[in-house]
Amino acid sequence: MIILLLGAPGAGKGTQSELLSDRLDMVHVASGDLLRDHRRRGTELGKMADEFIKVGHLVPDDVVIKMILHRLRAADCVHGVILDGFPRTVVQAEALDANLSLSGRRVNRALYIKVSHNTLIDRLSGRWICRNCQASFHEKFNPPRVDGVCDVCGGQLYQRDDDKREVAEGRLHVFYDETSPVIGYYRQHDSLAEIDGEQDIERVTHDLMRAIGRAPDIIGPGVADESAA
Ligand code: AMP
Repeated sequence: MIILLLGAPGAGKGTQSELLSDRLDMVHVASGDLLRDHRRRGTELGKMADEFIKVGHLVPDDVVIKMILHRLRAADCVHGVILDGFPRTVVQAEALDANLSLSGRRVNRALYIKVSHNTLIDRLSGRWICRNCQASFHEKFNPPRVDGVCDVCGGQLYQRDDDKREVAEGRLHVFYDETSPVIGYYRQHDSLAEIDGEQDIERVTHDLMRAIGRAPDIIGPGVADESAA
């Protein structure tokens, strides 16, 4: 099964991908994490991508497509993948489809987590990420127990350069201009589901699970499952 999580920066794709990956026992592949890993390791790809990432622009299609298709060929991806942050352009979506069709596969569901502009800006500008496990925290909405320290693994938290307000605004405009057409692309292919990403984390997970036809195993207090009514 191939599931895509689409949404603007700050929509909660990373957080939700991790939760779905745990519940569905599927690998989570995030294009942004792969690129940041290349940057950290100082590879040629990482150095090239750095130029684009730090100003909030998209890394060229051919580079990202090659990187993702290579990752999807790995043995751990055979049984299913949750793709987060890819595709971000229609060219990337078409390349993914063409490649999957070679092995008789396809995108099973494209899940669009929809969040308003003002909420996205609030979320991005207070976001802190773990250097070690990439867990995401927010100084207002989801603060770590100890300042600067990851609750999950004890790693050091940092603020991404591209989450600074001006760069974050630019990244949102890149999303509206270049990635929104991808949502239309999957709508046309009848694989799109839209989820309200302004709800609390647990409710969003629940809606995502429902959109892929998996009833959630645990629904927390206050999260009524209307489908059961
Ligand atoms: P993210 O962690 O998904 O917000 O990605 C961080 C940055 O990596 C983006 O602002 C882009 O510069 C780059 N990036 C990630 N995924 C892609 C993609 N699919 N296509 C082009 N650039 C990407």
